[in-house]
Amino acid sequence: MKPSGSGPFREFVMRDPAPPVRLHVRCLRPFCGHEALLDPVPLFGAARDGWPPDGLSRRFVCGCGARAAHVSRAVGRANRDNPCGWL
Ligand SMILES: [Zn+2]
Repeated sequence: MKPSGSGPFREFVMRDPAPPVRLHVRCLRPFCGHEALLDPVPLFGAARDGWPPDGLSRRFVCGCGARAAHVSRAVGRANRDNPCGWL
């Protein structure tokens, strides 16, 4: 950090770029519980309005065959190797 000389208060603080947003997808089938953290960009493109909204989604298929999943935004390392088998 360079000293800024603008006084003790700064309105803007340089931060690292925001970490990429992932889609946290959790199977809603009882007793399945599979979940995965997916990188939505290769799946749905970079435009976030093309991503599935938070909440119930039927755009994913779990390895158990269920198509009902709960989607939410999350931050973290994408987990492609999850055995869940989301499509
Ligand atoms: Zn499942």
